[in-house]
Amino acid sequence: MDLHLKAIAKRYANVAALDAVDLDVASGELVALLGPSGSGKTTLLRVIAGLLPPDSGRLLFGQNDATRLSLRERNVGFVFQHYALFKHMTVAENIAFGLRSRPRARRPDKATIAKRVQELLGLIQLPELGARYPEQLSGGQKQRVALARALAIDPTVLLLDEPFGALDAKVRVELRRWLRRLHDQTGQTTLFVTHDQEEALELADRVVVLKDGRIEQIGTPDEIYSAPASAYVFDFIGRANVIDGQTEGGELSIDGHGLRLPVDVHSRSRARLYVRPHDMALVGAGEGLAARVISSHRLAERITLELNVEGQTRPLELDLVATPDAVTPAAGSLIHVRPLRYRVYSD
Ligand code: ADP
Ligand code: MG
Repeated sequence: MDLHLKAIAKRYANVAALDAVDLDVASGELVALLGPSGSGKTTLLRVIAGLLPPDSGRLLFGQNDATRLSLRERNVGFVFQHYALFKHMTVAENIAFGLRSRPRARRPDKATIAKRVQELLGLIQLPELGARYPEQLSGGQKQRVALARALAIDPTVLLLDEPFGALDAKVRVELRRWLRRLHDQTGQTTLFVTHDQEEALELADRVVVLKDGRIEQIGTPDEIYSAPASAYVFDFIGRANVIDGQTEGGELSIDGHGLRLPVDVHSRSRARLYVRPHDMALVGAGEGLAARVISSHRLAERITLELNVEGQTRPLELDLVATPDAVTPAAGSLIHVRPLRYRVYSD
């Protein structure tokens, strides 16, 4: 089912948790809501689920206005980070719960429910574990069961609020790849909340970046990563170097350095160049910024140099690939670096 949010707003006392949010989600899409803690992600999911009424704005499921429908009428499925399974019920009973608690007229018969539970156990790749209790499962297994429980009711939309947030890093990565494959199988319209940019970029068809209850950018993972719409998004999406400079006539210059870089900005103004540590290269004198090596760190296949550039307040980082015969410039040496791919944002 497609989903449309129109100018959804929600305030708490003096905080605008959601500030006129517009969003269209296509049927079958997996959209990640990405933002730091407090940016409004959970509030947005709760509004969509029907757990929280918005102050204003409209919510459509397909063509139908769902703004005033109850949680049950919306028939959404959700999984929260700490949405515990029912401890006194087996895995199978947990998964069957949503179907069993339907009013009699819409409740499938026992055999149909049992068949559906077995299908879902297969889908989450735990076909043998229906008789277990939640305490007999790992954290990752519990979240897969929670997902099966959410899917059991054939939800209009699946809402996942940091579902893997409490799991350790390796399991999180496995589960997000598993979830992506599962989504490719089911085509279930899904909103996935995370504060982890890697998770969002790897998992989603489209990413919505939130800041203080507003949408900062919407795009595919490639668009968000390679063309961040603002300094905020650039910074949030990965490691960033910031270099202060000045634009004029389609060029950026940096005080005290001869380097001129082509930019889209033609006006004369102070600006900041944002460049990722792996998007800079070592070059000859006169082709880049002179920089003094402060230190170098090796991390698996990567060497990161910390650099001081004359006239700049912040140090820069430059990543080099650590090939066996690579010569790392020593601390104290003078090198020249040139940003290759970068974005410029006016002050
Ligand atoms: P996120 O899920 O992105 O961390 P939330 O949606 O939980 O963000 O919160 C958005 C903003 O609304 C935050 O500033 C938060 O402090 C505030 N907020 C959330 N829930 C409440 C509440 N029940 N009462 C007051 N303020 C709240
Ligand atoms: Mg939250």
